[in-house]
Amino acid sequence: MTAAALIEVRTTCPYCGVGCGVIAQHDGVQITGVHGDPDHPANFGRLCSKGANLHLTTLPEVAQTSRLLAPAMRRARTVPMQTVASGDALDAVAERIAQTVAEHGPDSVGIYVSGQLLTEDYYAFNKLTKALIGTQNIDTNSRLCMSSAVAGYKATLGTDSVPCSYEDIDHARVLFISGSNTAFAHPVLYRRIEAARAANPDLKIIVVDPRRTDTAAEADLHLPILPGTDVMLYQGMLHIMLWEGWIDRAFIDAHTEGFEPLKAQVRNATPAEVARVCGIDQAVLLEATRLFATQGPTLSLYCQGLNQSADGTHKNAALINLHLATGQIGKPGAGPFSLTGQPNAMGGREVGGLANLLPAHRDLSNPAHRAEVAAFWGIDEVPTTRGKTAVEMFEAARTGQIKLLWIVCTNPAHSLPNQAAVHEALSSVPCVIVQDAFASPATLRYADILLPATPWAEKDGTVTNSERRISRQRAVLPPMGEARHDWLIAAQVAQRLAARWGRLHGGFDWADSESVWNEWRELTRGTDCDITGMSYAMLEAAPQQWPLREGETAGAARLFIDGRFNTPSGRARFVAQAYKPVADRIDAQYPLALTTGRLRDQWHGLSRTGLVPKLFAHAPEPRIEMNAADMGRRGLREGDLVAVESLRGRQVLMVAASDAVRSGQAFMAMHWGEEYLGGVGTHGVNSVTSDAIDPVSRQPELKHAAVRVTRLDLPWRLVAHVSCSLAELQPCLAKLRSLLQDADYWSLVPTTLGESAGITLRMANTIRPVQPVLDALGMVLDLAPDARLLRYADAQRGVERRLRVVQDLAGTGAGGSSTRTLSALWLSGPQDALDAEQWLRSFIDTRQDVSRLGAALLAGGAHAPVPVQARGAAVCSCLGVSEPTIRACLAEVAGTPHERLAALQARHRCGTQCGSCLPELKRLVLQVHPASAMGVASESVAGTLVK
Ligand code: SF4
Repeated sequence: MTAAALIEVRTTCPYCGVGCGVIAQHDGVQITGVHGDPDHPANFGRLCSKGANLHLTTLPEVAQTSRLLAPAMRRARTVPMQTVASGDALDAVAERIAQTVAEHGPDSVGIYVSGQLLTEDYYAFNKLTKALIGTQNIDTNSRLCMSSAVAGYKATLGTDSVPCSYEDIDHARVLFISGSNTAFAHPVLYRRIEAARAANPDLKIIVVDPRRTDTAAEADLHLPILPGTDVMLYQGMLHIMLWEGWIDRAFIDAHTEGFEPLKAQVRNATPAEVARVCGIDQAVLLEATRLFATQGPTLSLYCQGLNQSADGTHKNAALINLHLATGQIGKPGAGPFSLTGQPNAMGGREVGGLANLLPAHRDLSNPAHRAEVAAFWGIDEVPTTRGKTAVEMFEAARTGQIKLLWIVCTNPAHSLPNQAAVHEALSSVPCVIVQDAFASPATLRYADILLPATPWAEKDGTVTNSERRISRQRAVLPPMGEARHDWLIAAQVAQRLAARWGRLHGGFDWADSESVWNEWRELTRGTDCDITGMSYAMLEAAPQQWPLREGETAGAARLFIDGRFNTPSGRARFVAQAYKPVADRIDAQYPLALTTGRLRDQWHGLSRTGLVPKLFAHAPEPRIEMNAADMGRRGLREGDLVAVESLRGRQVLMVAASDAVRSGQAFMAMHWGEEYLGGVGTHGVNSVTSDAIDPVSRQPELKHAAVRVTRLDLPWRLVAHVSCSLAELQPCLAKLRSLLQDADYWSLVPTTLGESAGITLRMANTIRPVQPVLDALGMVLDLAPDARLLRYADAQRGVERRLRVVQDLAGTGAGGSSTRTLSALWLSGPQDALDAEQWLRSFIDTRQDVSRLGAALLAGGAHAPVPVQARGAAVCSCLGVSEPTIRACLAEVAGTPHERLAALQARHRCGTQCGSCLPELKRLVLQVHPASAMGVASESVAGTLVK
């Protein structure tokens, strides 16, 4: 098929809450490419590194080996799954639910869904749970990322209503980014921030974050507060605003209530006290407050740093207090703007698909609201008591209150905190139903019934992004295998239950996703998120923001412009709450504050981005980052293995020095679950995170855990880098995982070796593994000793080196002879047996001719026998431009920082595609030429002063 014959489908990116429009091209069989939709108002044609590689997650050879394509069941956990017909699987799900409800009541059923679901899916599951099964026990992984934002908005503004739009970034004069590494978590939005700054050089950017992230490094002012001290910071800012007369008294008097108690409360939050508690300079605190209050309009952008906290509701409310006190809300460029992590966390909030919500922002504790929903659904009443929220649901499963868990499109065996308890829950609950599109998530191994679902490329429906904008997500390809849409699975189980129970007949007979949405739309009539003026046809033409009532033609870009809020009095409410420290105490036993966050090119538990090897090039290893001084005090060197331990569990991983992390703190990326990182008794990064929850929002404190980090002496090591085809990648990873179960430490990460896909395996043990395990690993890695393998073995020292050398038909050596290149390596034995890893890996990456090196390749040692350029981590993952290449180029070019960046881009084109690497490129420009300035401030220990 020619390029001209390709079909284009306009859809939406399924990753973050920016909600970028995507145009997917397909040839009827596979998606051949994606690009940003130039007409979508969320991204105007831009995509980040994740979105720009979406098509690579759907390649036929990848899908065939990574997808869950047929339903399966088993009678007991000890026997293997058997593939069954879809009808039988759905019958079994209905049977197990009916049996559980009959024996233990509706509240013994827990349904755990996902912010990745479309609104139609969310609506179907919510109705099934609350109207038919008769329990409020439906919750979502969105509980882990934004329930504190919901609670904060409700406490202050009256409803869960994000008052701002992305266009406010263009109008703002101050951006107050708090608890958000926007450059990594919402990259396309960050491109908009960069554009706003270019258009308005006076725009001031303040970043509040314990880490010096790429976002913080580019700010005018960085406040590296100690973890969890946000409420104290905001109270201190309000104290200064009151002292300096920087509040908007007229706005407070006309549109708010509850200011006097708050005033009294912040009296003691003096600059000195706040600087002490938050660990920042007073001067920085004063300057941030001055900018926020006097240089506006001020737009706050905030995310998990505020939400993932045992005091997240109050952190959100305390920040909104600042907007109310200064009148910075309801006008262009101003307002508290919560950025949602997931693509449809907002849709889930709207349909009320959480344990404490009712549809369309109705309140569960309000009898009139309950009656409205019950009447709409045609039932006597909706359950009156709040259901179990995410952490509570798994705890109830662990303690026997919940007897059946139905897990949809999420991987709690990775993403929930305190994984030991989660695994105990999944092991002990009598029935686990898992509905997922992918075959690799760790949760699947606990399933009694597996239901294959459609993923992004096959789904059809709607999503709502962070700015309340509803977009169509359209199916590009037909469902593979037996996969069905999530809403359809819910409906088909509901129809079976309705027939069995003799109620709600016809309540789930939707013909398509549009019928589900039309029903949901009607339920919004008269509410603050009324979308009765929208239709699928309207959304086909352009995404729309809510509210958009019947008769209206456009949604509202901004809420509360008239100063009336959604409270009974119409006034916004100030919330006065005392500062509460983090749940985990830092003490002599657990002296480090661990925080978690995102990598630039990865998404959540890696079930999708993990299918694309090149997305690992930017951060190729699971590791814990620490300040170099803390490492030195512990005698740790770069790359050492350490045990990270908290009150809840432990994880082993490599340590790396980072100047982004303050002394006394540590950082781990949230993405590494037990599919990629293991060791006996460990379950990935959330082995150690805290399940302490906010008493209002019930969101766990994933952003902070007290840990200790100790060097681990695991004398036997193995590293292997092997190439394999995309079709082999997932099966190979699965086989390797099964062989690593008894290892003290292992990591297993897709990689790119030269131009091909590959795998990096690391393993460490107290003793050498038994030979059958090593033999089996060698077989799977295609590095078993054979006649074609270069091999060195020192039985006395236990050292072994295996190298695969291949004829490289693409290259030619001296005299036109074909070259031989290294394609795979295995090094094992004591730690120094791995000394040659870096240069051997460089030979693989660069495909440098090794014909003449012969036995020198097997000599070991840290130095290559001939020069070879190290490839290093890829900074620009679109074009594969590595850090060493960038540094070498920058060392040669001259001029202003902007001129040097331009020269770099002219030579290597890095940062010219998706732009996700631009902050890092700018940082490298400044590192190579430290005396220069690029709109980036210089750092001090406790804060960064304005340039
Ligand atoms: Fe997708 Fe990236 Fe846009 Fe987020 S910023 S929606 S991940 S393309």
